Amino acid sequence: MTTPTEAPRTAWARIDLAALQHNLQIARQHAPASRLWAVIKADAYGHGALPVAAAIAAQADGLAVARVSEALALRAAGHQQPLLVLAGAVDGDELAAASRYRLQLAVHDHSQLALLRAAQAPLPGCWLKVDSGMHRLGFAPAEAAAIHAELGQLTGLPVGLMSHFACADDPADSATNRQLDCFAAATAGLDGPRSLANSAAILAHPASHADWIRPGIMLYGGAPLLAVAAAEHRLKPVMTLASRVIAVRPLAAGEAVGYGASWRSTKATRIAVIAIGYGDGYPRHAPSGTPVLINGQRYPLAGRVSMDLLTVAIGDAPISAGDEAILWGEGLPASEIAHCANTIDYALFCGVTARVARHYQQGQ
Ligand SMILES: *Cc1c(COP(=O)(O)O)cnc(C)c1O
Repeated sequence: MTTPTEAPRTAWARIDLAALQHNLQIARQHAPASRLWAVIKADAYGHGALPVAAAIAAQADGLAVARVSEALALRAAGHQQPLLVLAGAVDGDELAAASRYRLQLAVHDHSQLALLRAAQAPLPGCWLKVDSGMHRLGFAPAEAAAIHAELGQLTGLPVGLMSHFACADDPADSATNRQLDCFAAATAGLDGPRSLANSAAILAHPASHADWIRPGIMLYGGAPLLAVAAAEHRLKPVMTLASRVIAVRPLAAGEAVGYGASWRSTKATRIAVIAIGYGDGYPRHAPSGTPVLINGQRYPLAGRVSMDLLTVAIGDAPISAGDEAILWGEGLPASEIAHCANTIDYALFCGVTARVARHYQQGQ
C-alpha cells in the first residue's frame, strides 16, 4: 500500500473512498428501513479490506466477510463493529476464535451444528442459513424450524434467518420470487432478524430487503444487474486501474504484435506499450479490440496481453511515453472490460494482484 504522497509510477489502482461512501448511501436509499452489512470479503473485492472498512465503518451497521480469518484481521486492526462471517466456522478452533472475538456466524450445515453443540463458549449471534433454492449452502427448508429452535437453545440469543439468491442479477428471472416464497414458508412464525438481499436484489427486488441487506459489488461501483450499467443506478466506480505508456512504436502494414503474432495490422499504425499485464491482474484472455483509455480516448488492445505489458493500436493519436492509461474505472466501466474478457467485474476486482499499489483517495 502506498500513501497518497508517493504516487506509484506504473500499474496502480486508485481507490476513491468518497465514491465508496456514495455507493453505500445508494444502497441505503433503496432499502431505507433495513440495516446494512457491508460485504468486504476477499480483501473488499480487491480494494483493500482495512482501508475500506475504515472508510465505511461509520456508515454501515456491520461488516460481512466470508471467512473467520478475514474477520480476525479486522479485529486485529482495531475494528469494533459487528462482524458477520458468511460461511461460518469450519472447526472448533474457528468457533473458539469467533467467541473470543465476538464474530457472528452463519450456520449452514449439520457439521457446524455439531461444533456448536460441543462448544461451551458464547457467540454474539448466529444466522441460520436456509437453502431457498440456490443449492449451494444452507439447510433444507423443512429443517429450518427445528434447527432454529435448537440454535436458540444453544446460544440463548435471537437467531437470524438468512438466504442467498442465485439469479437476482436478472430481474426477469422468476427464480428469485420462488426463493422468496420458499424462504417465507420455511421461516413463517420464527423469531429473529431476516437477511436475503445482495446488491442485485437490493436494486431489483424490494420485497427481499427484510431486516438486513448485504450489498457487496454495488459498494465498489460494479454493475449488479445484467444489462444495466452501474451508472444508471448512480453508482460510481471506486477502483481505477491505471498505468503508463512506456513506449510508442511504429508498426508497418502487415506486421504482427506480441506473443503468437495473434494480431496483425492491416495498415501502418503506431503501437503504445503499457506497463500492465496479467501479472497485475489484467485478464490475459481480453481479446484484441478491448478498449483502453489513454488521454480520455478509447483505443483497441492489439495482440496478446503479456505478464507485464500490453499493446494498444493508437494510429496517429498524440500519445507519448509517460501518458497515463486507464484499464478500467473512471471513464471505462469494469463491467465493459469484463464483458469483453468473458468474465465479471467481481473477478476483475478480486484478481488485481499484490504488485499493484493501491493508492487511496480519502472520502469525508
Ligand atoms: C458475496 C455475498 C454477498 C454480496 O453479494 P454482491 O452480489 O456482491 O452484492 C451477499 N451475501 C452473501 C452470502 C455473499 O456471499
